Amino acid sequence: MADAETHMSDDCIFCRIVDGEIPSRTVYEDDAALAFLDANPLTMGHTLVVPKDHYERLDDIPAAEATDFYGALHEVVPAVEDALDVPATTVAVNNGEAAGQEVPHVHAHVVPRSADDGAGPIHALFDARPDPSDAELDDVAESIADRL
Ligand code: 5GP
Ligand code: ZN
Repeated sequence: MADAETHMSDDCIFCRIVDGEIPSRTVYEDDAALAFLDANPLTMGHTLVVPKDHYERLDDIPAAEATDFYGALHEVVPAVEDALDVPATTVAVNNGEAAGQEVPHVHAHVVPRSADDGAGPIHALFDARPDPSDAELDDVAESIADRL
């Protein structure tokens, strides 16, 4: 049940972590955001950054809180890279169930990366890619721009 006042959802695991009901290895906290280690890390140091309020998807976050959320990410990414002594991170959001989002509370994955970890770029997620014509690209660009 989502609570309109507090933007908290009782049955949400990340809301319960934010509330301290479920323990987490918290690495960062401010008024608007929390960062903690992923319980099933893809690489050592895999960290999740969440807004404290419950929003399911990126576009559900009000603009001011979205800025705060990005501010937290901006702090956490270099700290993770430094702590794990890695040259890079993959920073990713599974934004919606069809994209693989399992916990319906916005979270950015910060995954420490190294050149020899064998995981590849996010482009490696897609085997079959479209081969659009210029006209199709023009259409899709116009369609997106019309909504902005
Ligand atoms: P998603 O697939 O929704 O993008 O990712 C959810 C992530 O949350 C997964 O990587 C999973 O390991 C992590 N996760 C799920 N439950 C818990 C939990 O109770 N504690 C922590 N720290 N991470 C969790
Ligand atoms: Zn939540």
